[in-house]
Amino acid sequence: MYSASVESAISDSCQKARFLVAAAPHSGDWLLSLPVTYCGLRLTDEAVRVAVALRLGCSVCVAHTCRCGALVDAQGIHGSVCKQAPSKIARHQAINDVIARAAGVPVSKEPVGLVRIDGKRPDGLTLIPWQGGKPLTWDITVVSTLADSCLHSTSHSAGSAAETSSIRKSLSTHPFLLNICFNRSQLRPLAPSMHRL
Ligand SMILES: [Zn+2]
Repeated sequence: MYSASVESAISDSCQKARFLVAAAPHSGDWLLSLPVTYCGLRLTDEAVRVAVALRLGCSVCVAHTCRCGALVDAQGIHGSVCKQAPSKIARHQAINDVIARAAGVPVSKEPVGLVRIDGKRPDGLTLIPWQGGKPLTWDITVVSTLADSCLHSTSHSAGSAAETSSIRKSLSTHPFLLNICFNRSQLRPLAPSMHRL
């Protein structure tokens, strides 16, 4: 009731998307994690500052021009969508490492010679059957909730951009493989279909 009245009072689509995503299930789970360094769960002070600022809509940085030529405002949303961001590959590999460890079986990350129907390579493959005699492949996509291209859907439903990406990737999977799309939004909610896994 309270959430609905607050939501109806927000007119800006970016603020609305931010509010919906902050109120979505599991979007705040990272705040409950024990900061155990050995498990990779300890965030630096700077990481916490940026995460909290993104969640609340506070200033993240000083406005400047990105190396790609785009203007970056104080909220720093461009950093999560820039194709030339220096940390883009490192972030992807870190998430892939976590999923590979969580699988608990021998896996191959970014397997060579295995492509999806859309011509792209999956991010991982189990080397033994996962279910029904089929190995499992997975894909990781982090969608920016606050990107201009996503606001038309995320300002109405949290996680909708990630869900759309998940459906698109599922259609590209070979029938002899099981596939899970780890699609999540920048501000933490998983695609709704991920909650069923
Ligand atoms: Zn850029």
